[in-house]
Amino acid sequence: MLLDADIKAQLAQYLQLMEGDILLKVSEGTDEVTRDMLILVDELATMSPNIKVEKVQLERTPSFSVNRIGEDTGVTFAGVPLGHEFTSLVLALLQVSGRAPKVDQKVIDQIKNIKGEYKFESYISLTCHNCPDVVQALNLMSILNPGISHTMIDGAAFKEEVESKNIMAVPTVFLNEENFGGGRMTIEEILAKMGTGPDASEFTDKDPYDVLVVGGGPAGASAAIYAARKGIRTGIVAERFGGQVMDTMGIENFISVKHTEGPKLVASLEEHVKDYGIDVMNLQRAKRLEKKDLIEIELENGAVLKSKTVILSTGARWRNIGVPGEAEFKNKGVAYCPHCDGPLFEGKRVAVVGGGNSGVEAAIDLAGIVKHVTVLEYNAELKADAVLQDRLYSLPNVTVIKNAQTKEITGTDKVNGISYLDRETEEVRHIELEGIFVQIGLIPNTDWLGETIERTRFGEIIVDKHGATNLPGVFAAGDCTDSPYKQIIISMGSGATAALGAFDYMIRN
Ligand SMILES: Cc1cc2nc3c(=O)[nH]c(=O)nc-3n(C[C@H](O)[C@H](O)[C@H](O)COP(=O)(O)OP(=O)(O)OC[C@H]3O[C@@H](n4cnc5c(N)ncnc54)[C@H](O)[C@@H]3O)c2cc1C
Repeated sequence: MLLDADIKAQLAQYLQLMEGDILLKVSEGTDEVTRDMLILVDELATMSPNIKVEKVQLERTPSFSVNRIGEDTGVTFAGVPLGHEFTSLVLALLQVSGRAPKVDQKVIDQIKNIKGEYKFESYISLTCHNCPDVVQALNLMSILNPGISHTMIDGAAFKEEVESKNIMAVPTVFLNEENFGGGRMTIEEILAKMGTGPDASEFTDKDPYDVLVVGGGPAGASAAIYAARKGIRTGIVAERFGGQVMDTMGIENFISVKHTEGPKLVASLEEHVKDYGIDVMNLQRAKRLEKKDLIEIELENGAVLKSKTVILSTGARWRNIGVPGEAEFKNKGVAYCPHCDGPLFEGKRVAVVGGGNSGVEAAIDLAGIVKHVTVLEYNAELKADAVLQDRLYSLPNVTVIKNAQTKEITGTDKVNGISYLDRETEEVRHIELEGIFVQIGLIPNTDWLGETIERTRFGEIIVDKHGATNLPGVFAAGDCTDSPYKQIIISMGSGATAALGAFDYMIRN
């Protein structure tokens, strides 16, 4: 049995929400994946009288498409959409049947107005928590616009195709046979990438803000809410609303919430922010800050926003090792997200660079999937917590190398090894392997600020206890500052401090 009793009971409830008939067009082979796919399709058809099935030949076998009766939607699943993709399947069934999606009408109109032919293909793994957002966004776009089609391809079921395209990170999206992008993307991000987002003209007539927050992670969201609660004009510009939290799986230290998941917390943040009528300018990147009469923030699209005060909360990003081969082989064997990309290295040899908590957690995770994991730690000892180290050392397929300074990532069209300097013996050694997971911490997103704002030698913005920077009227909060600890709750606290600091500054000036 493919679906257990609990899942079947849940599924039965969802299927009752279908609003019309749908047709599953099934392309079957003789392999084991086909067998599982047919069991799934049969179960669905048995559970709902609205689901009809037809045997056809599709571009890939095994696969099935989800269609309205008499009209193809372009939504296809190649492989068996279970695991994290089960929700994508359920949503596709409901939305194709006519059930309205929970997406802003503005976004729906934007999708419907897209002209042209767009054939999307997304390569995923069933254990990737970043993939369903992308699959669901592309499916919805296919359902709403007849010019758009999308096929989800389970990399594990189409190994040859994945190998031939050198795909070593999921999700990887192709548009009209060309690489379109990778990693978690929201529907708005996909639309912006397609060039359908707002341009500078939409920002030119905006009145100056009292508080303009740059960055939409927990620090920025908290700062904006605290500012807006003072009844002052507040805006947020964010390259990607949610920040690092969007890439976080389980969160168990957000006090008063025992367990949540990143995207869920981001959805609550967004709802809370929208409740206060804050002007949210998502998918916009700031590139310059200058103080004139007011403080000016210039965006990548050329628009200039003005404000009496600014709160910088641009957070941090993965730190690169900075050795030859790292940039060249990114997504060709060099990866940063073990949860997402681990399954693509099944049965292969990988290294984890970094022996802190995230590196050791990654190594433990990967050891369950890959053939062998080598942990490379620069220092003489691992920095991870003792419990994690105990677990790591108990695993039979893990080697830990200390005093190892990574020198080069080698390969031809993809990674084939890593060279490191043994800092004790001064010898350079080389390990043959297929994948490298970089886990050496974070770097603040402050390079765009130029010389105006004082920073530490690590690039962190220096703030006082009111969150004020050296430039009057400019405040900062969260992971982009010199706060010693980088956590969600700490970022939110410092966002609140910066907003109150900015309000105080405004009423005194
Ligand atoms: C994998 C992972 C797991 C984690 N797990 C936990 C956990 O369990 N518990 C916990 O408390 N913490 C956890 N953290 C840490 C936590 O996510 C961060 O401390 C927190 O997100 C920092 O919030 P922030 O708002 O300062 O920055 P970020 O979350 O980094 O947000 C920065 C924001 O600024 C935007 N931005 C950046 N540059 C620009 C620009 N030039 N213009 C416009 N916008 C810009 C970004 O798009 C984003 O919206 C985890 C982090 C990671 C990476």
